[in-house]
Amino acid sequence: MVSALTALETTEAGSLKIVSVPCLNDNFAYLVRDDVSGNVAVIDAPEAEPIEAALHALGWTLTHIFITHHHNDHIDGVERLRELGDITVIGSGADANRLPILTHAITPGDTWSWGGRQVRVIDTPGHTVGHIVYHLPEPGVLFSGDTMFAMGCGRLFEGTAQQMWSSLCTLSSLPDDTIVFFGHEYTASNADFALTVDPQNAALHARVKDVIATLNSGGRTTPTTIGLERQTNPFLRAAAPEVAALVGLPDADAEIVFAEIRRRKDAG
Ligand code: ZN
Ligand code: FE
Repeated sequence: MVSALTALETTEAGSLKIVSVPCLNDNFAYLVRDDVSGNVAVIDAPEAEPIEAALHALGWTLTHIFITHHHNDHIDGVERLRELGDITVIGSGADANRLPILTHAITPGDTWSWGGRQVRVIDTPGHTVGHIVYHLPEPGVLFSGDTMFAMGCGRLFEGTAQQMWSSLCTLSSLPDDTIVFFGHEYTASNADFALTVDPQNAALHARVKDVIATLNSGGRTTPTTIGLERQTNPFLRAAAPEVAALVGLPDADAEIVFAEIRRRKDAG
């Protein structure tokens, strides 16, 4: 049996420690500790139990909950976790009517100071209209929720393809070495699909080999980086002429190509 402690996968970035916590079927919550301030945040709370177990195993005290969007598989654990203490719950004010009660409603575009560390709140409509992501420019970390996945992006439940394309362009313009922590382990199916759209992409083939090895050994494919996504994520590659040609839209605008790629993924 694997103990809770050995199942914790930690990424260190500057003075941050980031632990991925698998929840429900394929969600990730992320626990983030800032060693300077001692603050501990969770990014999304699909369910309380595994997050509480991880906090306990790490000996960390939760201080903040950051919410990316209103879907149940990102908020259902919030009410129980907020009972752990004096917890600040942060989410988009524009979606406050369908989020758990917020102690701090933010406006996309705002910069939030988390224990003296800058957190940029980026508006990423598409998956939902109120979806936001959290970017920590220092040390270069992004929590992308259901906007961007490894080799994938969120389904368009509320927003338009044009909105999602614009949201993804904003994220792909972040520095290549930005570490991206995403909301779901959808990587195996995303990899299969990516190969159908972008079969001549050598970087994609190399990556798919890597993720298959990782998954076969019981590992997780989170996190990724902006640079790797720019090279291998078929949705981010909608502006590449070779991808436009491969989906039969050689002269179309990138957002039209993006919409076609999204349509194919939904149909698959
Ligand atoms: Zn969602
Ligand atoms: Fe989700």
